[in-house]
Amino acid sequence: MDDASRKLFEKSRALVPGGVNSPVRACHNVDSLPLFIAEAHGCHLIDADGKNYIDFVLSWGPMILGHDAAPVTEAVCSAAKRGTSYGAPCPDEVALAEAVVAAMPGLEMVRMVNSGTEATMSALRLARAATGRDKVLKFIGCYHGHADPFLAAAGSGVATFSIPGTPGVPQSVVADTLLAPYNDLAAVEEIFAVHGPAIAAVIVEPVAANMGLVLPKPGFLEGLRALTTQHGSLLVFDEVITGFRVAFGGAQARFNIDPDLTTFGKIIGGGLPVGAFGGKRRYMELVAPQGNVYQAGTLSGNPLAMAAGLATVRALAVADYGALEARTSAFATALRDILAAKGVPVQMPTLASMFCPYFCEHEVTDFAGAKACDQKLFTNFYKQMRAQGIYLAPSGFETGMVSFAHTEDDFSRTLDAARKVAL
Ligand SMILES: *Cc1c(COP(=O)(O)O)cnc(C)c1O
Repeated sequence: MDDASRKLFEKSRALVPGGVNSPVRACHNVDSLPLFIAEAHGCHLIDADGKNYIDFVLSWGPMILGHDAAPVTEAVCSAAKRGTSYGAPCPDEVALAEAVVAAMPGLEMVRMVNSGTEATMSALRLARAATGRDKVLKFIGCYHGHADPFLAAAGSGVATFSIPGTPGVPQSVVADTLLAPYNDLAAVEEIFAVHGPAIAAVIVEPVAANMGLVLPKPGFLEGLRALTTQHGSLLVFDEVITGFRVAFGGAQARFNIDPDLTTFGKIIGGGLPVGAFGGKRRYMELVAPQGNVYQAGTLSGNPLAMAAGLATVRALAVADYGALEARTSAFATALRDILAAKGVPVQMPTLASMFCPYFCEHEVTDFAGAKACDQKLFTNFYKQMRAQGIYLAPSGFETGMVSFAHTEDDFSRTLDAARKVAL
């Protein structure tokens, strides 16, 4: 079983740290080995052994149209024949910028980069430059890519100082990163009371999708908007996952909040390496060469990546998000009922085309709540589902993703597999 994947992994481990190019893929959290994927179409993955899986990871979010979606594949192939990189502006950069600015209510200008990480680190630099302040407030359990300032973990509860979450990040860099529990507006208020005049920005995942799936409590995002405005700090929405996912206009449209800056990644590149940051003209005009805040990229605005992003955004502009949400919600409810009937504690938050099985009794509203779930049960569930051809995210701290390519047949096969799981 999984022979080809095992062989590839063995070879890869000698060449690549941990055998993978991004840590969570190694499946350590679920006591499993990674599958090497040979091809993917619609919501189906085919691994190196030729085994077929129904995919609920979707490359961690980008593939909302499904894999190998005709308009995207055609756009990429046709772009490739016109050359893969120019290092000069190309027409699709303007078209994608126009499409993204039109889609997102909070955006007046946008700059393309190559990943979500680049987007958040650039947005933070811009926020610091715009305010002349150094500190940034982030939420425990939110992920903003792997740039140094965001790799901070709190000792406990509300921290007014931070320790790096990984070796290699200087204490001095995370000293300016403040941490609060997600959904805890009172903690944010306390931090502002102490550090207000030094806080350049609050960065938040408007729906937290990197600690499982945690929805913002009513009033949380509104409270962040009010506090940042009151203290002259910028509100940065990290919409790398939620952009074009929770609504075509992202979380800012869905929750009707107007952030100062927004970061994008994942869906915006349609499966190619793209990120973007954008926001109000008065801030974006500070970015070089219009202003003096340096930000650059040899491959930024790459013609293949722009073609994939543009084809994806254009398809999504006419897609039925409401229908996808209804199908996801029905599926998630059925999955929860099947698991609950086994006598295990289970929560199944769902929003738009995302869902997350948490094995616990309590409603999860922050990272501490997510960590208190039963990871052994999750691992057990994950392994048995994977053995039956259902590909879930290999960690209890990731959200499940549904695409427009998932059919009722895919859902019912997944539910049948869940019925057969013994927990
Ligand atoms: C994935 C992610 C990032 C980082 O994007 P990369 O393209 O992996 O660098 C940043 N923020 C959020 C919310 C993400 O989910």
